[in-house]
Amino acid sequence: MATVTMRNIIKIYGEFVAIKGVDIDVEDGSFVVLVGPSGCGKSTLLRMIAGLETISHGELRIDDKLVNDLPSRDRGIAMVFQSYALYPHMSVSDNLGFGLKISGVNAGEIDRRRDEAAAMLGLDPYMDRRPSQLSGGQRQRVAIGRAMVRDPEVFLFDEPLSNLDAKLRNQTRIEIKRLQRELKATVIFVTHDQVEAMTLADKIVVLQDGRVAQIGSPLDVFERPRNQFVAGFIGAPSMNLLDATVGSDANGPLIRAGGIDVAVPPDRFDLPPEGTPVVLGVRPEDIVPEGHGSRPTLGADFAAKVNFAEMLGNESLLFAHLGDTEIVARMQHPRAVDPDETLNFRIDGSRVHVFDKQTQDTVL
Ligand code: ATP
Repeated sequence: MATVTMRNIIKIYGEFVAIKGVDIDVEDGSFVVLVGPSGCGKSTLLRMIAGLETISHGELRIDDKLVNDLPSRDRGIAMVFQSYALYPHMSVSDNLGFGLKISGVNAGEIDRRRDEAAAMLGLDPYMDRRPSQLSGGQRQRVAIGRAMVRDPEVFLFDEPLSNLDAKLRNQTRIEIKRLQRELKATVIFVTHDQVEAMTLADKIVVLQDGRVAQIGSPLDVFERPRNQFVAGFIGAPSMNLLDATVGSDANGPLIRAGGIDVAVPPDRFDLPPEGTPVVLGVRPEDIVPEGHGSRPTLGADFAAKVNFAEMLGNESLLFAHLGDTEIVARMQHPRAVDPDETLNFRIDGSRVHVFDKQTQDTVL
């Protein structure tokens, strides 16, 4: 397997700069997920690594070799597409072996690699079928198998799960992670789904508008988002963001938002002077309905009418207003909530985030 190193990678389409100087290090055997909203440049970046798109500026290295101008087939990469891109007129077996055959690999070796991939992916029963005779999940496994038999240095995945239904998505996600561990493969995986990013990645690269917004472990980007964009993008449902100002009382610093004063730990933030406008960020799980979960010691209480409750089985999402802002709170071990019922909530002040109103950077 191999490392992938990107240094100041830029992609220009005519007048439009799609990738604006990206530095990413992908370690050997690691699972790196590129995530971000539609149009942020994920696919463009992946396609440049694959050699399907030219690199306008910067350096791309696989191991230590500069590969900017190397044809796709010589880069030691294999790519799995969202659309599977299987040959419709060929059997599964031929789909798996075809790439090796045209590369001149001998028949015995093709059989060996094909059998190994088929066994790992549970494709043995389907080897004689055409792609049209397979389910979406099975087709995706063939596409992954076709990448595996090439024994690449690096696997690239471009939203491979988006065409699968929710259950199959979860299963295939787990399968991809298991395979990556078994093969000790270096993987670069593109998705716009932050749950996929969180569960698969050793390292998440959050892209925003052609730039890296943050690189870190899943826990890092969740717990310590560098700015408001990352905070809002990572986590589902999204972090609540409220216009606020800095304040204080006899007990220490607080953040005023939506008519309440949220006490925050004295040593946690280097807050600007009192009265400065900021943005308060609170994750849904840190707005605790009374009687559902332990009561945070630091924070603020408020009562709010529940406009809408979304029952998810093991938890409910409660939509309410805090001041003028619609917020969402997470209710663990839920009970039925009557329409328009007023509940008491407590914001966990030890877990809130504060953002600079102008720069949108996290206040630390
Ligand atoms: P999505 O999640 O919707 O697939 P993405 O993050 O993968 O989005 P890209 O497909 O990489 O985004 O596109 C990044 C930007 O580059 C977009 O604004 C897109 O319109 C632009 N772009 C992509 N390909 C071209 C092209 N061939 N010519 C001009 N602009 C392009």
